[in-house]
Amino acid sequence: MSALVLDGKKLATLVEADLTARVLTIKEKTTQTPILATILVGDDASSATYVKMKGNACRRVGMDSLSVTLPSHTTTQELLAQIEQLNNNPNVHGILLQHPVPHQIDERACFDAIQLNKDVDGVTCLGFGRMSMGEAAYGSATPQGIMTLLKHHNIQLEGKHAVVVGRSAILGKPMAMMLLAANATVTICHSKTPNLAELIKQADIVVGAVGKPRFIKAEWIKDGATVVDAGYHTVDGGVGDIDISDALKARVSAYTPVPGGVGPMTIATLITQTVMAAEKAANLS
Ligand code: NAP
Repeated sequence: MSALVLDGKKLATLVEADLTARVLTIKEKTTQTPILATILVGDDASSATYVKMKGNACRRVGMDSLSVTLPSHTTTQELLAQIEQLNNNPNVHGILLQHPVPHQIDERACFDAIQLNKDVDGVTCLGFGRMSMGEAAYGSATPQGIMTLLKHHNIQLEGKHAVVVGRSAILGKPMAMMLLAANATVTICHSKTPNLAELIKQADIVVGAVGKPRFIKAEWIKDGATVVDAGYHTVDGGVGDIDISDALKARVSAYTPVPGGVGPMTIATLITQTVMAAEKAANLS
C-alpha cells in the first residue's frame, strides 16, 4: 500500500474557500473588513517573501492586510510602540510580527506585547501557557496547521508515540503540547539529545523541526510511521529537515511533501485565526 500524502496545499485551498464565505458574512453583518497587520523589521529577503505571501493570502479570502515595514536599526522601544498602536487600533484583528527580528531587538518582549485577542500567530507566552493548559488561545500557526492537517487525514494520535525533533518556542514546544493534548505520548528531542536515532526509531509519528536540511535520516524512521516535515530549505530545489527518499515513502503510512505540506498550512492557520478574531470582535462566534 502506498503512503498517504498529507497535502497541505490542497487542504489550504479548502480552508481558504471556507474562510472566503466567513469573511463575506463578517463584511455583510458589520460593514468591516477583517484586517491582519503584518510587521516586517529589516531587509531579510526570506522574511519579506513570507510576509508578502501572508498578505496575498489575506486578499485571496477577501480580507485586508496592513503592512508595517520598519528599518533594520529599529529599537525594542520603537517596535513596542508600533505594536501598542496596532493593539489599540480597533480595525486591526490580528498582528503578525515576522520572526526573526534583528538581533538588537528583544523579540520575546515584542511578541509578548501583542494583545492576546490579536495574537493570531500564537507567539505570546500567555497564549502558549493557556494553550498548554487546555484554555482558549490561538495556537502557534505552524504546529496548529500540522494538527489540522493530521486531523483532516484522520491520523490517529491517541496512544501513539510522537517524537518531535526541535524545541523552539514557535514550533517544537507548542507542537509537543498539542500532540500531548491529543493523547499522544510525546518525546521532545533537541541538540543535546544523545540517542536521537534510537528515539526516532520508536516513533509512530515523527515531526522534523530542526532547521537543518535532510538532517533526520530515512533509516531512523520505522515502517508505517507518519512523517511530518516542518523544515524548508532552498537547496536542491527545496528540501525539508527529513530525508524523505522514495524508499522511505514506500514504507511509511503517511508523509508531508516538501514543499506543499506544512508551509501552506501555516499561512492557512494564520488567516483562519485572524478570521476567528474578527468574528469574535463582531460577536459572531
Ligand atoms: P530553531 O529555532 O532554529 O530551532 C531548531 C531546533 O532544532 C532547536 O530546538 C534545536 O535544539 C534543534 N536542533 C538543532 N540541532 C539539532 C541536533 N543536532 N539534534 C537535535 N535537535 C537539534 O528553528 P525553528 O524556528 O523551530 O524551525 C525549525 C524548522 O522549521 C526550520 O527548518 C524552519 O525553516 C522550519 N519552519 C517552517 C515554518 C513553516 O511555515 N513551514 C515555520 C517555522 C519554521 P536546541 O534547542 O538544543 O538548540
